[in-house]
Amino acid sequence: MTKRPFDLPVALQRISAAVQPYPRAAMFALADQGYKSLFEQLVGCIISIRTLDEVSLPASLRLLNAARTPLEISQLTAQQIQSLIEPCSFAERKAGQIQAIAEQVVTHYQSDLPCDEQLLLSFNGVGVKCAHLALGLGCGMPAISVDSHVHRITNRWGLAATRTPEETTLALEKSVPKPEWIRLNELLVPFGKHICTPLRPRCSACPVLEMCQQVGVSAPR
Ligand code: SF4
Repeated sequence: MTKRPFDLPVALQRISAAVQPYPRAAMFALADQGYKSLFEQLVGCIISIRTLDEVSLPASLRLLNAARTPLEISQLTAQQIQSLIEPCSFAERKAGQIQAIAEQVVTHYQSDLPCDEQLLLSFNGVGVKCAHLALGLGCGMPAISVDSHVHRITNRWGLAATRTPEETTLALEKSVPKPEWIRLNELLVPFGKHICTPLRPRCSACPVLEMCQQVGVSAPR
């Protein structure tokens, strides 16, 4: 098939329609339920690391329903946080990290976490993916959050030619207009779970087949 040049606005419009039947990505679902402060989003993203959305979203809601402010979380023990966020992966480690962040925010920032990328990245347990997602959703800042879905799909498209999510973040920041940055994660997470899957992507049913270079795709459905 002759491919037309990749048109990102058109692609995102079509993908937005294609993912309507599927659940929203966990952090966006958390925001939909009213947990959209920077601190709440950061906590939710830490809980979501290496954990399925189906597990991490209920875990985040259990914790945030019990304690949602930095002060309230700092008053829980690490064991209490752990029991609320289980069975997410690395629950013990994440509980300690969440409690330490809450204590720092209370002690140094009067319980008001600033929208500061370098500060977020200085916290134990917070990487670029979570910092950007929290800043995008919690602060409305332009930020690209590259998880395994965004990394895989944008490389298949030919929009990035990178080996790691960190390299993909830098590549996409150069080529994608800022208004689309946060939407990449919002749309490509459900798209990657249900259509452009890691193994045997559903290319025959894909709304962007005509413009996707299908880089590295050897066994499409
Ligand atoms: S055509 Fe295939 S590889 Fe390309 S985005 Fe669609 S499902 Fe993914």
